[in-house]
Amino acid sequence: MTSAAYDDNNIFAKILRGEIPSHRVYEDDHTVAFMDVMPQAPGHVLVVPKAPSRNILDADPAALSQAIAVVQKIANAVQDAFDADGVFVCQFNEPAAGQTVFHLHFHVIPRHDGVALKPHSGTMEDGAVLAANAEKIRAELA
Ligand code: AMP
Repeated sequence: MTSAAYDDNNIFAKILRGEIPSHRVYEDDHTVAFMDVMPQAPGHVLVVPKAPSRNILDADPAALSQAIAVVQKIANAVQDAFDADGVFVCQFNEPAAGQTVFHLHFHVIPRHDGVALKPHSGTMEDGAVLAANAEKIRAELA
């Protein structure tokens, strides 16, 4: 095991505890999914296991299995909600790989032919836009 220790003051731990708000689109016993506040495309969702782990390197394989099933569910929902041509799923481990929030999460991003991704952790989206996009995804999941 080479990961640093998990720090439960990270921002996703605070979201999971309800200490700061998020635009949730899905929740079950093991996993939460909410809108990324700096989306790389409209409909960018983060799928977050509730179990504490810093990233994939120290995660419980059972939590990974539960999370990836939700990733699939959300990927189908965003593809339909945004009439996407494809869906990009990605996940970063440690700063060298681009990780900035140290609680395991999967990015699920609808893609359209010929439309470039915006930068990672680029521009904060308007809250009303995030709320509207979350509602579209919840409608697909309903
Ligand atoms: P990374 O750790 O590099 O995989 O990315 C962390 C992601 O979390 C970035 O895409 C950020 O835009 C996103 N993010 C940061 N703070 C929040 C927040 N409070 N709510 C939702 N998404 C966030």
